[in-house]
Amino acid sequence: VAMYRAKHDGRNGYRFYTQEMHERSSRLLRMETLLRQAAARGELHLHYQPQIDLGSGRCVGVEALLRWNNPELGAISPAEFIPLAEETGLISQLGQWVLRHAVQQARRWLDDGVPFGVMAVNVSTIQLRQKDFMQTVADSLREAGLPSDRLELEMTESAAFGNAEAAVKLLDELHRSGVRISIDDFGTGYSSLSYLKRIHIDKLKIDRSFVRDLGQDSEGEDEAMVEAIIHMARSLKVTVIAEGVETLEQLESLRLRRCHEVQGYFFSRPLPPGELEAWLLRQAPGG
Ligand code: C2E
Ligand code: MG
Ligand code: MG
Ligand code: MG
Repeated sequence: VAMYRAKHDGRNGYRFYTQEMHERSSRLLRMETLLRQAAARGELHLHYQPQIDLGSGRCVGVEALLRWNNPELGAISPAEFIPLAEETGLISQLGQWVLRHAVQQARRWLDDGVPFGVMAVNVSTIQLRQKDFMQTVADSLREAGLPSDRLELEMTESAAFGNAEAAVKLLDELHRSGVRISIDDFGTGYSSLSYLKRIHIDKLKIDRSFVRDLGQDSEGEDEAMVEAIIHMARSLKVTVIAEGVETLEQLESLRLRRCHEVQGYFFSRPLPPGELEAWLLRQAPGG
């Protein structure tokens, strides 16, 4: 269809469009090759972003976010390389790397008395569908000697509920093992809300898009949405956290609506481990 359209856009349209397509696909191909070697070449790092409990003001968790710096391509956003990793199957290997490193970092912080709370790790739909996923999680925890209730897995609605029966079974198994389950980007998926009754969920993360215009005296649609999600989560006894909090107005609006937790640039950007440690120690009582 793209080719057909391009042809009918005029004589130069054809060449321009195919060249653009060519450049795009060769960048992706190059990126795939480089991504395949990224872990072995030490180009992957994790940054950590604090999650703050509004009641106590304490950091109750940190989210691990993958960073890739390549000498040729520079710093590449996860928004670009995660989808590529999912399409090419590289996500399993990458996901295992993230899980292992995040869990090991959590263990070191426990040993050093760094008050990070719970380690939250993003997992993609494809990882969850793999038969050995549960085993991979259990192995990482055992290798590091991290108590399972210190690990939280963030997954999207579609990941958790797309393939109903298998997903229910896996989430149940994860829950029974003590690992926490968090639903990322909540409100952007298309799944039915009935799953919230069927499986155990520990946390709902209100998507950034609903938080953006909070406290701006706008139409109030985002306010209504956020209020409804918080209300629902509270009645289901699920922790609710807002993502992407950047301003004091947003924070006050969330506080007013009794959101449990917040995460966003207002408090801290995702930081390399050393900087996060310093940040946490500054926040701690007496620090
Ligand atoms: P996510 O899991 O929803 O992570 C939140 C994203 O929002 C992160 O972007 C974070 O840096 C950004 N963010 C946090 N606070 C704010 C804020 O106040 N304002 C704005 N504008 N943005 C904020 P990042 O690190 O670029 O990651 C993007 C997405 O890539 C993540 O969305 C997640 O879906 C995926 N991702 C990142 N690391 C991993 C990973 O290790 N595994 C998997 N499967 N996906 C990952
Ligand atoms: Mg996340
Ligand atoms: Mg999110
Ligand atoms: Mg996301």
